[in-house]
Amino acid sequence: MVQGRIRRSCQIHQLLKRRIAILGSTGSIGTQTLDVVRQHPDLFEVAVLSARSSWELLAAQAREFDASDAVICDESCYEQLSAALADSDVKVWAGTDSLCSLMAGEGIDIVVGAMVGFSGLRPTLAALEAGKTVALANKETLVAAGSIVTATAREHKAAILPVDSEHSAIFQCLMAAAGNAVEKIHLTASGGPFRTWDKARISTATAADALRHPNWDMGAKVTIDSATMMNKGFEVMEARWLFDISPERINVVVHPESIVHSMVEFEDGAVIAQMGCPDMRQPIGFALGFPRRITVGNRKLDFSTLGALNFEAPDLDRFPCLGLAYEALERGGNAPCALNAANEVAVAAFLQGKISFYDIARIDRECLRGLNFAANPSLEDIFETHRETVAIANGCID
Ligand code: MG
Repeated sequence: MVQGRIRRSCQIHQLLKRRIAILGSTGSIGTQTLDVVRQHPDLFEVAVLSARSSWELLAAQAREFDASDAVICDESCYEQLSAALADSDVKVWAGTDSLCSLMAGEGIDIVVGAMVGFSGLRPTLAALEAGKTVALANKETLVAAGSIVTATAREHKAAILPVDSEHSAIFQCLMAAAGNAVEKIHLTASGGPFRTWDKARISTATAADALRHPNWDMGAKVTIDSATMMNKGFEVMEARWLFDISPERINVVVHPESIVHSMVEFEDGAVIAQMGCPDMRQPIGFALGFPRRITVGNRKLDFSTLGALNFEAPDLDRFPCLGLAYEALERGGNAPCALNAANEVAVAAFLQGKISFYDIARIDRECLRGLNFAANPSLEDIFETHRETVAIANGCID
């Protein structure tokens, strides 16, 4: 029955173009999504593009892809965007409320959630409430409000397709499950730029050091989170919600080559892995084309020159953020939301050179342990926890 549905869906989508909205089109995932779209004008068209404040690039993208709407979330950039698109047919909007309203539009089939951090939560919920398929790259949405986001998707029969490379890999591996229960998920981590550094050296790391990711081309926030390994902690939470699997069944394994993007183990000991050269356009293309696989212009694996693939356990002493993520996940409720809020503030301060590398973990720990705990937070509680924690974390910086 599922096979039949997939076949029918393939046939339909050979005829109809998918209309895409991109939340955060000027960032790393947004621009790579547009690169995939650019390669397949027969399959996709762009409906809505949005950016936080990069109005020049947003205007150029809206022109190139003939978007129907362009939204600048920072309202102070509205005049500039509006002037830049004055002689076009693109409708120009400002503010997150406008973006949320547009998500209900008939002219959108897939919403790519590529905003950075907590700011993606409201537009993502608006898209799910409108029953739209969401290709989700913005993991903080699930970290902060996983139970609410997944319940909203269920209620409105909206699919969430993973774009994060590990979760896309797990999703691809699960196609081999054929109804069998999953024993374990092995979530791979590159280990980041400080994998081989000792603690004393890591404590002196600058933002420039941390931004030098060995394998992946990503935005600044997620690259710093990779260096602290908070990213992997958030990905454990993301996997817990996307695949409805208990955290004890999620194992993090450091794999410096980033060739195995993650693995699924079954009760007979069989492990299915998804591999490929590290390039975010593969998981993006998989989500956009699902269930069809499409070309994305990436480099293919050459097994004759690949050499060894290495695996090791993560070191929670040198990378304490991973342990904090486990702690927040175990406490549940609004604890992951508080950890995420603290981390957003701390990472921004580290990028500005205001705090040291291990101050990120210190601020995250203080905010997590000092949190005003709520076991079953409502959406209002989540926004309140975020606001409160941002204020507390800012107080830890001076
Ligand atoms: Mg990832």
